[in-house]
Amino acid sequence: MTNTIMKAVVTTECTCEVYDEVTDKSTPSDDCHGCWDDNQEDYSENFLPEWTSRHGITNTEDIVIWSEAMNWDRVSGHAICKVGTIVDTLAINGQYRLDFEYDPESGNLTCTRYSHDEPMGAMFKVGYLRDIEESE
Ligand SMILES: [Zn+2]
Repeated sequence: MTNTIMKAVVTTECTCEVYDEVTDKSTPSDDCHGCWDDNQEDYSENFLPEWTSRHGITNTEDIVIWSEAMNWDRVSGHAICKVGTIVDTLAINGQYRLDFEYDPESGNLTCTRYSHDEPMGAMFKVGYLRDIEESE
């Protein structure tokens, strides 16, 4: 059985591409065609429901996001939010990129954030408060 990791990207940088039929390659576009909205839509309508439906997570449930090493000084920390505010919670001032990955087999949801202070990426784990409280 193959395990397909699901991915979604939310980024302040333009990800629009132009497809060249002659070379069969896509290159970055000079003009933005609304990729922010497209990426948000893919994340919230295709990606996130896979995770929430599998685990029975409701919109009012407390979600925990935590990291062992984030920001320029690689500190650990966590934040509590709701399903609908995960991106807002991970967002920072300025440019950033959020690479979400969901592993359907393990059920793990992670996000790697890239920013000026996190050029190598900061890994975040996303979970639900009830599981963490139960395991303590
Ligand atoms: Zn764009």
